[in-house]
Amino acid sequence: MNDPADAVSLCAMQASTSSVPRFKIGICRGCGFVYSELEGEPALGVPAGTEWEALPEEWKCPRCDDPKAGFEVVVV
Ligand SMILES: [Zn+2]
Repeated sequence: MNDPADAVSLCAMQASTSSVPRFKIGICRGCGFVYSELEGEPALGVPAGTEWEALPEEWKCPRCDDPKAGFEVVVV
């Protein structure tokens, strides 16, 4: 018999380990635009799941054209 509560507590245990996938977001210092690795930027040809490091160096903020270096990268 499967107890759903057991599954939940197991998930909570796994969530506390370092093997949990984390992802990064980049926040434009110029305009506050947020790039999420989870969502990508499909409208700009960047598929969901594209890592921040995989973005080309010449990538710019789609909203204000700030360079990639102008983004603050946060692991969430
Ligand atoms: Zn911007």
